[in-house]
Amino acid sequence: DRTGDSVSVILVTGGTGLVGSAIRRVLETEPVGSRYGRLPGERWVFLSSKDADLRDPVQTKALFDKYQPTRVIHLAALVGGLFRNMKMKYTFLDDNMRINENVITHSHRVGVTKVVSCLSTCVFPDKVEYPLDETKIHDGPPHQSNFGYAHAKRLVDVYNHAYKEQFGVTYTAAIPTNVFGPNDNFDLEDSHVIPALIHRCVLAKRNNTPFVVAGSGKPLRQFIYSDDLAKLMIWQLREYDDVEPVILSVGESEEISIETVVKAIVKAVGFEGQYTFDISRADGQYRKPASNKKLISLHEDFEFTPFESALRDTVDWFLNNYDSART
Ligand code: NDP
Repeated sequence: DRTGDSVSVILVTGGTGLVGSAIRRVLETEPVGSRYGRLPGERWVFLSSKDADLRDPVQTKALFDKYQPTRVIHLAALVGGLFRNMKMKYTFLDDNMRINENVITHSHRVGVTKVVSCLSTCVFPDKVEYPLDETKIHDGPPHQSNFGYAHAKRLVDVYNHAYKEQFGVTYTAAIPTNVFGPNDNFDLEDSHVIPALIHRCVLAKRNNTPFVVAGSGKPLRQFIYSDDLAKLMIWQLREYDDVEPVILSVGESEEISIETVVKAIVKAVGFEGQYTFDISRADGQYRKPASNKKLISLHEDFEFTPFESALRDTVDWFLNNYDSART
């Protein structure tokens, strides 16, 4: 950070979302001075879209002038489920391109020394040899269904390399697999699989109706609890010093089926009725494993929260915040 500054300002864009709120929670609960806790001299600022619309260069410039950050965790993005991604490819491309360009440009302008942005494993090529790893991002076109979002995200990695080569700054990226946790979007139609299933199961319990799961339940996925991802992003900001991105995920051996997720949700919600799989609905890819070898080689003692307890905490949060949750 800048010499002479006694306070290091860390700006978290998208600070009110699923991942941003987890970073805030982790910093609040871990002991001050510990690996994932607040450090003396740090000032963390969590931003929402109300602080500035990051699609707008004028608002973004004013925001960076106001806070003069020294480091940035960049999470803000237009995020959506498959349906919205398919319907709004231009908007997903254009909004995310603008947000990323504005954040990176103004970070560099005010002298930010480190930016950790957030990509996603769904930006990888459609036709690729599994498991995914950090070297394969640009190895072919992304899946047709979300190419707008995917190309905007991939360009963050391109920006990072260009900034490194031209200006020598280390702007880098995290690549999480499927994230879940408190403060997620629990919309029934257009959210990720875990929050959507939790919401459906809670409604089935309340209304005494069957809990119907779209698809066969067979596909396998890697899920990361938002608090684990938060710790790993804090680690990446403080301890990782390379432009190449890092996949932040549980290992390939921790893949779990949607059916296993469903059983855990049923248990956590206390749903005693019938659950069925609607096999007339598309399943998506059977599996798309991502390797976390790089992460483990750099941070071998990291302990992931067991899936069932993370899921229970997420369900408890949803039940306790039912009226204010994003649904
Ligand atoms: P959320 O949708 O929960 O939160 C999005 C955040 O971005 C909110 O704080 C929102 O502010 C802010 N935001 C959105 N648009 C703008 C804008 N135009 N200007 C300023 N702020 C804006 O996202 P997640 O926490 O789930 O995702 C965080 C990052 O992680 C994203 O970059 C996403 O692509 C990536 N990711 C997420 C995965 C997942 O499974 N959820 C998986 C892999 C990657 P407000 O609250 O005011 O709307």
